[in-house]
Amino acid sequence: MPLLVVGSVAFDNVQTPTAARENVLGGSASYFSYAASYFTPVRLVSVVGEDWPQEYTDLLASRNIDTAGLQVLPGAKTFRWTGKYLDNMNDRETLDVQLNAFEQFDPVLPENFTRCQFLFLANGSPVIQMKVLEQCTGATLRVADTMDLYINNMRDELLALLKRIDGLVLNDSEAKLLTGEENLVRAGHKVREMGPRFVVIKKGEHGAMFFSKHETYVMPAYPTENVVDPTGAGDSFGGGMMGYLAEQGDFEPKTLKKAMAYGTLAASFTVEAFSLDRLREIEREDIDRRMEEYQRMLSF
Ligand code: AMP
Repeated sequence: MPLLVVGSVAFDNVQTPTAARENVLGGSASYFSYAASYFTPVRLVSVVGEDWPQEYTDLLASRNIDTAGLQVLPGAKTFRWTGKYLDNMNDRETLDVQLNAFEQFDPVLPENFTRCQFLFLANGSPVIQMKVLEQCTGATLRVADTMDLYINNMRDELLALLKRIDGLVLNDSEAKLLTGEENLVRAGHKVREMGPRFVVIKKGEHGAMFFSKHETYVMPAYPTENVVDPTGAGDSFGGGMMGYLAEQGDFEPKTLKKAMAYGTLAASFTVEAFSLDRLREIEREDIDRRMEEYQRMLSF
């Protein structure tokens, strides 16, 4: 089943302790879409400026990502993010954010997009997320991501959104920031009590935790030796997870658990290179091969 995503499409500048890249293709919706495209057709809703190269749109379109919802704003520049990773390659500092076209974004969905049953609101303002949610009248599974910027600056809008979604995906520091809880298990359930039926807390190299009313569990990260650039790991996790759910066409607890595993593996490929470079090299079989290995690793 097709999967709709709204989020950022960006130029990123990334510094790691050993290397740096400028003006590479990034953004929450780019990573999400690309990772999800291994599982299901994707419909992308985002905005870019006039400086956006057609070649990047073509790259996304070549992966069965429908770009009819990617607006080009005349006279505007594309969203730009600059980040720097600390020596542990897990923690990062945002050095600069230029929202540019993303700040003026007023999403209007093509008619066929509004009927999508699987919806992911990737990182972006909760106001934009809500505008898309309201247009997606056909959605049966609505999952969102959020981040510190929006928890700090748009808390009320975010809390209103939480009441309207089925799932929330966020990282450990964001869950603590949102709830004021240091214990992640308590934080996970506290976020759930704010609205969503399930919550996923991503913990970078330490894996991800799942919370619903009846289940609490942890999925370890796939052990990767070769971490080149963690940017987009969280969004790729979301893409792998939602892509698998849309492919299966359901979100039963058992399907959700396997989806968490696919999210974990999609992220494990993304961190092996800058930008989408590693994802661009792989096929679905590579993910499934890693899945067999991951399942063997977890059975005892
Ligand atoms: P992740 O590493 O999964 O958290 O995602 C990193 C991506 O998120 C980068 O490619 C950025 O372009 C994008 N990003 C950073 N800040 C924001 C923001 N405030 N809103 C939306 N996307 C963002």
